[in-house]
Amino acid sequence: MSVIEKITSESLINLENNYGAHNYHPLPVVLKRGEGVFVWDINEKKYYDFLSAYSAVNQGHCHPKIVNAMVEQAQTLTLTSRAFYNDKLGIYEEYVTKYFGFDKVLPMNTGAEAVETALKITRKWAYEVKGIPEHQAQIIVCDGNFHGRTTTIISFSNDENARKNFGPYTDGFIKIPYNDIEALETILKSTQNIAGFLVEPIQGEAGVYTPSDDYMMRAKDLCNRYNVLFIADEIQTGIARTGSLLAVCGNCTCQNKCERQETYATPDVLILGKALSGGAYPVSAVLANDAIMNVIKPGQHGSTFGGNPIAAAVAMAALSVVDEEHLIQNARKLGNLFRDKLNEYISTSSIATLVRGRGLLNAIVINDTEQSDTAWNICMALRDNGLLAKPTHGNIIRFAPPLVMNEEQLLDCVSIIIKTLKTFEK
Ligand SMILES: *Cc1c(COP(=O)(O)O)cnc(C)c1O
Repeated sequence: MSVIEKITSESLINLENNYGAHNYHPLPVVLKRGEGVFVWDINEKKYYDFLSAYSAVNQGHCHPKIVNAMVEQAQTLTLTSRAFYNDKLGIYEEYVTKYFGFDKVLPMNTGAEAVETALKITRKWAYEVKGIPEHQAQIIVCDGNFHGRTTTIISFSNDENARKNFGPYTDGFIKIPYNDIEALETILKSTQNIAGFLVEPIQGEAGVYTPSDDYMMRAKDLCNRYNVLFIADEIQTGIARTGSLLAVCGNCTCQNKCERQETYATPDVLILGKALSGGAYPVSAVLANDAIMNVIKPGQHGSTFGGNPIAAAVAMAALSVVDEEHLIQNARKLGNLFRDKLNEYISTSSIATLVRGRGLLNAIVINDTEQSDTAWNICMALRDNGLLAKPTHGNIIRFAPPLVMNEEQLLDCVSIIIKTLKTFEK
């Protein structure tokens, strides 16, 4: 790196530091271009992207089909608001509901908005269909959850950083341990007025905590039994990331695409975001059947940008890429290979203690305290070696490359990771 180039990189970081709110702590690398599984920094250094913008870029960077759909629509009609109909929304709504096997969709933009939407639908359903007395509805959530950053959502987070001094908090949420089916049953048995159970099929932000194989199915059965909505937040885990269309493993299209039939569970309310646009545009959605979705009437919920024609065109292109390029099958195959290779290394390692995950949503746990900077330093060394990843919680590093990766590239990445870990062995 020449001195001039280094100054440029630093100066761009300084601009963010000086003029942007300090609500993130990025790895120091300034990217300017992406294609498929690769990104390039402003000095033309090439990296494997092993984060995929938190699994938004499942279809790979700047996928031509998705970009073309976006550009074409941007040149035709960008936004009408929902005050009028547009010629793309209905077509998209039919496409996305058939794709995931639900009667209806409510389109939004960001993940947090879609979670908020799901919570509002659940409460309204509780009062108008289930018959819970007004203002009494409770929604069960899990310890260690991550569902976004709005005031209501952080009200039921356990992350002190996300919560502290943002109160007063929204009422109506009960926390139980994750992956603990008895805890769910106990609360359902003992508590009145439960409207829903909001859960991530794998807790991504918490460190890729992967529950037992039957957790989703058993949770869904319990929800059925107690007439409680099973709400799956698949914003990070959905759309092929974990080697099935949805990580809860359910729904009609998934039955054709997924091999994990034994853990089948269909959510009552499905929340999608991130890869719904392949990372090209903010697109999120809540899907549910009529008995639930029809509680929402005109004027009761909305978003100026939700369901705009660009989002509709982009999302259809992004979902079609998942099928055409067999991303589910690829994520499953490469995920198994990745964990096999890393397990082999970890069995002799003192710095990495375990690898966990499903499909291409994985994490390794670093043998140091949560407060240590070892994981951060490993990510810095990975960066120097041409691979970008980031610690989630202190000593955990998430590995989630775009799903368009091929086997040769994955093996190349495995060797970069192992080579880097070796320099940290004690
Ligand atoms: C990213 C994420 C969200 C929030 O999505 P935003 O688009 O950042 O608002 C919610 N839930 C899960 C599981 C996520 O991974």
